[in-house]
Order: sequence, then C-alpha cells, then structure tokens
Amino acid sequence: MLNPRKILLVHPLGYGAEAAGRDVSRLANLMPPLGIASLAAYLEQRGVATTLIDCFARPNSDSLIAEFLRTEQPAFIGFSCTTSSFLDGVRLARLAKTVLPGVRTVFGGPHVSALKGRILEDYEAVDFIIVGEGEATLAELVACGGEDAASVPGLLLRADGLPLYTGHRTQSLELDSLPFPAYLKLEGFPGAYKLPIFNYPRTPNTSCISSRGCPYACSYCDRSVFGRTFRYNSAEYLYEHMRHLRQHFGIRHINFYDDQFTFHRGRVEELCDRLMKAPLGMTFNCAVRAEHIDAALVKHMKRAGCWMMSLGIESGDPELLAHHRQNPDLDMLAGQIRMIKSAGVRTKGLLMIGLPGETETSIRRSMDYVFSLPIDDFNLAKFTPFPGSPLYETIHEEGTFDEDWPKMDCMHFQFVTKGMTRERLEELFRAFYEGHFRRPKVLWGYVTMLWRSPDSWLRFLSGIKGFLAFTRKTERIQEAP
Ligand code: SF4
Repeated sequence: MLNPRKILLVHPLGYGAEAAGRDVSRLANLMPPLGIASLAAYLEQRGVATTLIDCFARPNSDSLIAEFLRTEQPAFIGFSCTTSSFLDGVRLARLAKTVLPGVRTVFGGPHVSALKGRILEDYEAVDFIIVGEGEATLAELVACGGEDAASVPGLLLRADGLPLYTGHRTQSLELDSLPFPAYLKLEGFPGAYKLPIFNYPRTPNTSCISSRGCPYACSYCDRSVFGRTFRYNSAEYLYEHMRHLRQHFGIRHINFYDDQFTFHRGRVEELCDRLMKAPLGMTFNCAVRAEHIDAALVKHMKRAGCWMMSLGIESGDPELLAHHRQNPDLDMLAGQIRMIKSAGVRTKGLLMIGLPGETETSIRRSMDYVFSLPIDDFNLAKFTPFPGSPLYETIHEEGTFDEDWPKMDCMHFQFVTKGMTRERLEELFRAFYEGHFRRPKVLWGYVTMLWRSPDSWLRFLSGIKGFLAFTRKTERIQEAP
C-alpha cells in the first residue's frame, strides 16, 4: 500500500548525468529549484511529507530516486520541467513506474502548462499535469489521493483515455500567505548552488523570487504558468524572507529572480527603507524594465544594497524590436542604463539573437548599441521559440524550426529565420561575445572583480578550460576529453 501523504518532487537535469561536469551553463550558474522548494513548504504545512531531489545539484540521482521510491513508497512523484528537461522527466517517470507500480506521476512547469493535452496524448508515463500555479492544485490532488482529481481545478488528467482539463483556478494565491520555500530540503543549500560568475560580491548567496507574473506581452516570452497579472510579496514579507535567509543560512547576497522587480515602485521603496533602518548585512541584484525605474528609486536602492541591475534589451535594432516587444524605445533604454551606472550600480544587459526577422545588419546594430553603453556584463541568448510564447504558434512561417526539446535551452539555434543560416548565426554569436570582451573598460571591470567578487575569479579559474572551449565552439555541453 503506497503512502498517500508522501510525495517526492524532482527537478530533472535534462541530459545524461555523465555530461553534467561538462555543462558550461551549469558550471557558470547553478540556481536552487525555488518552484519545488515552494511547493514543498506549502505541502508540509498541510501535513504532506515532501522530499526534494534536485538533479542539477546531484546529477547522478537515478539510484537515489529509485531507492527513495522503494523504501518510502510515496503515492506521488512530481516533476518540475522546462522544455529542455521535459523528456528527462518522462524518462524518470517511467523509471518510477517500473520501480514502484501504482505511483502517480504529476508534471508541472512552463512546458506542460503550455502544451497541455498534447503531453497526455503522447506520454503515457505522465498521469497528471498541473496547469499554472502549482501549490493549491498539487495539495488538493494529494489530499484526494488522486481519486477525485476531476474535481480539482487546474489539472489535466485522462478520462476514458482522453485528456480532460478541469478548468482554470478562479483565485490565485495571495503570495504573502505562502511559507518561505523549504530551503532546508535542498541538499547542500546554500553552498551547493552558485549565482552566475561575476554576478555577486560575496558568498554565501542565493536566488529569491518575490513576485509572479508579468503584464507585458513580448513575442518570445511564455507566461503559461503565472499569466499576465503581477502579484507580489509585500515589503514586510520580503524583508522577513531576507532576514530568514540571513539568520538561517548566512546569506549575504540575493539575486531577485523576478521578471519585474520594480514594477510596484512603492513596495521596493518600502523594502529599501526597511533595509536601511535595520540593515541585514546583505546586498542584492534584480532585473528591471527600463520603464519602471527612475533616478530617485535607483539611488534609494543603491543605498539599501543594490549591487547590480539587469535590463532586457533583446536587440539594438529598433525595427526588429518593434515587432517583438512593447515600448521599443532604445534611446530611453540607453538613458536608463547610463543613469543606473552613474548611481554606482553595475549593469547587465540581457540580449538575444536569432529572432524572426533578424539579419546580419540587425545583429551588427545590436553590437554597436550594446558596445556604446556602460554595460558591465551581458547575457546573449540564442532565440528559442518556446511553447506558450506568442511566436510559437506561427514560427514555422518565419523560418526553419527543429523542435528538438532537449536542445531548446537558449544555447542552441533550433530556429533559423528566413535569409539566415545556422552557421552564420553561430559566427555572429561568437563575434558578439568577442566584441564585448575586447572592450578595455569591460576588461578592466572584470579585473576589478578580483577584489569586488574574488569567489567569482576562483570559480572562473577552476572552470577555465570549459569557458575557453565555449568561446571557440559555443556548445553548452563540451565534448568529453
Ligand atoms: S520578456 Fe519580460 S517583460 Fe516581456 S513578457 Fe516576458 S517577463 Fe514580461
């Protein structure tokens, strides 16, 4: 008899565990799976014993999962998957059903939320899909033992062999009512996790999420899970969350992983007031949209400990940008980046290349634009048409798209827009990075990291072979020696 009050939550790796040591992105950034940590805290509060296995932090987890299922006999196993990790999740679901017949598999995350019934039709190992926000839906599913699942809103299940959607939840969660994520259930937290190199001044550090959803509608962005509203933790809750991380785990720097940290100006101002009145000895990074910052707010944030701000630029070509996002005002964006920099906060630009309509000229314009700005760090993603993004629906009309899910991780050109070739995109991708690292000011900035973020340099030097190989061949998983 399986234990109906027990669940194992897994964060799949997405590829063979033997390659984990050669995954450049994993070496550069290892983020705690905050989604399943939040689910775990919510379920524990409701008397469900929850265990987490993060295959990113512990790549060789198959035997661990099998052993847990055999000895603990949970009634449920849940998987939180992106597009690139989904098939690995299915592999583990099959393994789970072999080891523990009768265990029910539940999948959540953006990929299954976007593709819904198509997943149930094609993957027998998936019993349930949670569409959208997971906490309440999963708790209700576990509470009914899976027997009366059709009455739980927010679920996809099979009825008479066909996918049945139980309908949207009418009420979203009040985020201040949620317990803090169950960090203690993440083995090795916080030391096992790493923020991106050169993105933090000190250790230990972590990511933290303080809002859900985004009201914008960029063509390349999938918002199947949290939708187009913006919900957020109050300043009071967020301050307590930070204090919890400081007191219990010694955290000294936080990366707020919100899409729009400053969307509600008042709460950020109040949080900064609290951090100045009763300092926690912590610094923080956040991502902002240029429309939602101003000089007074940035100075306030700097005084409260803001170390770096990331801004979505995407492209420096105004015509291309106008097709893909609202307010494509590059002059305003440039002004905001200069303002942030002059306030003493590091700036990071988030860009992508390979969008539908991209040309060699538009990529050159992006380079000229970015290299004209005081950007300290940048991230260049290879455009990937994710299920759930507005572009996905018509992407085959825009060019060639090889929908190979494990490679859809923003580090492969699976889509090639008309008039371009994959080879040329790769060359321009490399040229973009090289151009950034050749700028004397940027190089000097990285030199200053010797004393501003010494741990980053240690990590960089210990992974230098992989990083240098990435500059020659922009493959995420480097070849085995
Ligand atoms: S890319 Fe950013 S601003 Fe655009 S919809 Fe997504 S989260 Fe919102």
